[in-house]
Amino acid sequence: MNDLSRLAIHTMTTKPWDLPTACAKYAAAGVPGVGLWRQWLDGRPLAESKKMLDDHGLKAVSLVRSGFYPYLNAAEKQAAFDDNIKALDEAAAVGAPQVVLVCGAKPELSLPENRRHITEGIASLVDHASKVGVKLSIEPLHPMYADCRSAVNTIGQCNDMLDQIGDEWVGIAADVYHIWWDPCLEQEVKRAGKRIIGFHVCDWMTPTADMLNDRGLMGEGCIDNRGIRQLVETAAGFADWIEVEVFSARHWARDQDTYLADIIEAYKKHV
Ligand code: ZN
Repeated sequence: MNDLSRLAIHTMTTKPWDLPTACAKYAAAGVPGVGLWRQWLDGRPLAESKKMLDDHGLKAVSLVRSGFYPYLNAAEKQAAFDDNIKALDEAAAVGAPQVVLVCGAKPELSLPENRRHITEGIASLVDHASKVGVKLSIEPLHPMYADCRSAVNTIGQCNDMLDQIGDEWVGIAADVYHIWWDPCLEQEVKRAGKRIIGFHVCDWMTPTADMLNDRGLMGEGCIDNRGIRQLVETAAGFADWIEVEVFSARHWARDQDTYLADIIEAYKKHV
């Protein structure tokens, strides 16, 4: 059974709760970490959100998300760059050590072209990341999203990219939902080593009713959460936060207090 000292919950996991509510509920339940989605910062100064976290003894462990690098014209390229700079500044302001990157993809472009835009886009941000002291955390997404959400789909691709652009300010967020199926997982996690700076847990439902919003709570599906956790810990030396990230219309429709209790139970038992 896990204690809660490394548990973080993404605000998107309990989507019906705004930031003040999530802070109060997480803190009362003894959850110390928050994966902060940017929408939850809207409507108040960043310093106020930071104070809200601090007042509850909570730590922003990641800011989610920026990325979306592939572009069809110069204006899109500039807009992506500007938004990524803004995300790094927001992360610094709320004390989050990393920004999670969903790299993007355009169905109009070939996969190699998408991946070139992504590599160049991330490389263009390294200076600013080092200046504000926030890491860029590349999250490979399951290949079912390779058309329009991310052309980066495996830890191996992330490793290849980091070989090119350096890994001092760029790392990898390993989300079990996206990597559990990968036959090269073990060798690529070993190769990644300290590059793995984020670990996200949830589960894969059978059948999956919706490609985006039908994730399961750990233990509800077929992912070996504990096995993958042991892999990132033993093969890569990962010892940081474990972030529960579940997008689920089914769970969002439930009473969120009961759901939070279930999240904590699932974390203790299945991670
Ligand atoms: Zn994730």
